[in-house]
Formats: sequence, C-alpha cells, structure tokens
Amino acid sequence: MRGVAAVPSYVIMQPTTLCNLDCAYCYLPHRALDQPMAPVVADAVAASVNDWAAAAERFSVVWHGGEPLAAGRERLGRLMAPFAGVEHHVQTNATLIDDAWCAFFAEHDVRVGVSIDGPASWTAQRVNRGGRPAYDQIMRGIDTLRRHGIRFAALCVVSAPSPGLARQLYEFFRDLGCYALGINVEEQEGVNTRGCGFDGEAVQGFWRELVGAWRSDPRIEVREVEWALWYAGAELVGTADTVLPRQLDPIPTIGRDGRVVLLSPEMAGFSDPRYGDFSSGNVLDTPLHEIVRRATVTPDGWIAEYLTGVEACRNTCQYFGFCGGAHAANRYFEHGRFDGTLTNHCRNSKIHLLEGVLDHARAS
Ligand code: SF4
Repeated sequence: MRGVAAVPSYVIMQPTTLCNLDCAYCYLPHRALDQPMAPVVADAVAASVNDWAAAAERFSVVWHGGEPLAAGRERLGRLMAPFAGVEHHVQTNATLIDDAWCAFFAEHDVRVGVSIDGPASWTAQRVNRGGRPAYDQIMRGIDTLRRHGIRFAALCVVSAPSPGLARQLYEFFRDLGCYALGINVEEQEGVNTRGCGFDGEAVQGFWRELVGAWRSDPRIEVREVEWALWYAGAELVGTADTVLPRQLDPIPTIGRDGRVVLLSPEMAGFSDPRYGDFSSGNVLDTPLHEIVRRATVTPDGWIAEYLTGVEACRNTCQYFGFCGGAHAANRYFEHGRFDGTLTNHCRNSKIHLLEGVLDHARAS
C-alpha cells in the first residue's frame, strides 16, 4: 500500500451538524448546532460521484451527521435526489426511527447502521441533552426497523474492554436482529479528550473472548473478528501482502458547507494553526473529483505529513500488513501531529485485536 487513490470507493456526507443525543464519548464539535447542508452542496458532490459510481461495481454515499435523521425526511430526500447509481447508507442513533422513516428507507433503498453499545447498562453513555439514557428510545427505533423487516447493522462503542464482557456483548447483538456488528474501542478523538490507554491484557482478553463467542455461534458478521481471521489465514498461506488495497482510500467527507476533508472524517470541523481547517477544498467552487485528484496526486500539508507517518509504520511496525497505518485522526488527536506511529488506537484496535485472535487460534 502506497499513497492515496485518486478515486474513492465511498463518500461521507454531513446532512446536518446537529445530533439530538449528547453521548459522553462523542468526538463531534458542533453537535448542538442545527446547521443543515444546503441542496446545492449535494448537487455539486453528485456531479462527481455519479461518474465514479458509473465506473464502479459499487459506490456508497454514507449519510453521517451529527445525527442524519435530525436533518428531517424532506431535506434528506432532497439531498439524496441528485445521486444516481449509488448505495445510500445512514449511520443513526435510531431514536428518531418511526414508521415514516422506515417507509423512507424502503423508498430510497437505504442501508441502515444503528449505534448502540449493548444492554442498557453498557449503553448508559448514550444520553439525550438532558443527560437521560437514550436506551429505551434506541430500542423502540430498532423494534420499528424489525417490524418493517428492514435489515440493519449495529455499531458498538466499548469503553471498558475486558474478558467477561465480550461473550455477553456478542450474545446481546446476536439476539438483537442485526446482520452485522462493528466494534469500536473508545478513541481519544475530537472533543473527546478522555484517555484511552486501557490495560493491554484486558483488551487482548476482550478480543480473544469475542472471537471465541463468535466462532461458537457465528450467526452475525463481526467486522473486526472476520478481518483479523482473514488476515491471519492469509499470513499462514503466505498471501498477507495482498490483503490490503494497493492505495489508501481518500474517503472524502463533505461537510454541510461543502468543505472536503480527506482520509479521516473525524478531522472535519476542526482547525489548527499549523494545518488550517484540514480541508482540501470546497465543492461550491471546485469539482469534487478535482479536489481529490489534486490532494492525492500532489499531497501537501497534513496529508503529506500523514503519508510520512504511514511510511514510518511500514518501516517499524510488525503489524503494518494488517493495519496499513490506521487513521490520520488518531495520530493527530493523540500526538498533535501526523507523522508519529504507535497510538492507543493501534494498541486497542489493531495490535491487541490481532493478538487476541491469534491467542484464540493457538488455544483451539
Ligand atoms: S498499528 Fe499503529 S504503528 Fe502499527 S502500522 Fe498500524 S498505525 Fe502504524
């Protein structure tokens, strides 16, 4: 893997900065502000995306806020209207899902991802603006999806990874009705400044137990476990070098005002005296494909610094073939710059994950 591809496989759109929840670990800086995306921004993005989608087998447009449903059905429908040949996805906290939203999902063929952290006590950090737990509202939204027969994936944040938790967590999601689960160990990112230097043995034990739980009843996909098993299998047959894509996906994130941040959606909305606002341009004055092409063919500023960091990873980290250098935002929010290497995110979500899966394989 070297450099950044000039064509993405998906884009992330911010239909509004607003979120109706106020989760304790949230990284978003403007989630209390109701700043919707103007339709002209979506029109400009679609002009490039539709060409990319026509040339690709699959191309996704991921609507991710704030809370994307807080934009309202009328606005979200208008923002989706100019796109052709794409798969639409929403990542939602589920609290606003009702029959009308389910009809919207069906009409627009939207893939739904729901954020929930497990049973009520483990979802307790997902709270509304009054500080009250949102669990019951989330479960009502999920029940509505199930009633309408709408498939959904789940995304879970784990703030205290340890063995003893993983099996219960897996069983909760296995029985929730989702078809897939992604697990994010909490990250120190954006406005979430909580340190995430968890005990390494506990984190590794968490992943070890999770893979064991999944293998004993693999009814749903578990993103991290399957990726790690795939990599470990490739390592065994000597094809590990072929696991990662040849280049990084640029992952353009388009803010509600048209600014484009590449590589790490978590950088959107932040600025730094050294790096400016991290944006590579604005779709209201430059076509998106041109913004991406310029930033990837001749990278400069923080993107060039990040690529230096990725090369440092390649030269120093034995996990590079599995990880590929991870995310720019973790380096920035943990180190204050982009050319460092090892972060707590590396330890929690790459190194201990792979080692936990290997522990399980050795013991079975
Ligand atoms: S685990 Fe961390 S140090 Fe290793 S390759 Fe990934 S980002 Fe780099």
